[in-house]
Amino acid sequence: MNDQQLLRYGRHILLDEFGIEGQQRLLASTVLVVGAGGLGSPAASYLAAAGVGRLILADDDKVELGNLQRQILHTTGRVGWPKAESGRHMLAALNPDIAIEAVVARLDGASLDEQVARADVILDCCDNFATRHAVNKACVNAGKPLVSGAAIRFSGQVSVYDMRQPDAPCYNCLFPEAHGARELYCAITGVLGPLVGIIGSVQAAEAIKLMTGMGEPLVGRLLCLDALTMQWQTLRFNRDPACPVCAGRSVPSADGPQH
Ligand SMILES: [Zn+2]
Repeated sequence: MNDQQLLRYGRHILLDEFGIEGQQRLLASTVLVVGAGGLGSPAASYLAAAGVGRLILADDDKVELGNLQRQILHTTGRVGWPKAESGRHMLAALNPDIAIEAVVARLDGASLDEQVARADVILDCCDNFATRHAVNKACVNAGKPLVSGAAIRFSGQVSVYDMRQPDAPCYNCLFPEAHGARELYCAITGVLGPLVGIIGSVQAAEAIKLMTGMGEPLVGRLLCLDALTMQWQTLRFNRDPACPVCAGRSVPSADGPQH
């Protein structure tokens, strides 16, 4: 690390649990952020500021005026830009020390597998169940940790599905795809702007913990926030042995390739 980096990341390095070693791990890490909207904005901003060496920001959408109430990666002057490009512009200004890739596409199939394979941690910051389940499957197959967040109206939730751990549940264990839960979109129902900021920030914190090995990630715990009363609840859940997505998955052994 050079002097500029020691200065830039000093407040993290000062933390005993973090230290120079933690910072070096972040600088050597790649994170995939799926979605450059309300959750992806704070999540990617904090990860860029923290010095994650390579950020891949994927979104197929364009910036609209109605996004700006909460999607703080974007500005009035960039309405009409692809969100991934607008986000890259903002993150590069925040931290020119890191590599930022904009992927202007809805990742699925082989393109999703390819980007997941490159990443050490994946953040699901999208707004629809189809993508959430596709990202979960890709992470289960690749044995990668997933930090998933969601927010609508005044309710937010976040959890970590760490597929490096043999007993860790996956997203589908908790929210089975077959149940066909009703999809809610904030374009129809509304969402409190700072709520996505809170949940996206929790996602960034969990991702940093996973990369540095600090603390205890939200594995097997769903953290729920009601912003109207500002009360948090933690729901514990287990792996579903009959889960069609993760049952029988192989977990990389301690001697195998790991990050
Ligand atoms: Zn599962």
